[in-house]
Amino acid sequence: MLSFSKIIFTALVFVVVWQGFKLFNRSKQVAADEQPKQTKDQSKTSKKANPVAHELEKCPDCGVYHAEGNAHRCDD
Ligand SMILES: [Zn+2]
Repeated sequence: MLSFSKIIFTALVFVVVWQGFKLFNRSKQVAADEQPKQTKDQSKTSKKANPVAHELEKCPDCGVYHAEGNAHRCDD
């Protein structure tokens, strides 16, 4: 039979682990809340730097990079 002190100790351990888990999740959430803002800023700046996000293909004939799928005619 479990003694009273063992029950109290188990409950104490449970509470400590639970509170610690809550704190751990909160710190993870704070980090997750901060990260999207950074990625949003990064995507904004990357969009400004490179507005065309299409995959580029190099023309084997003239070496000009053109958007994938777009019709390309060599100047020469
Ligand atoms: Zn070409």
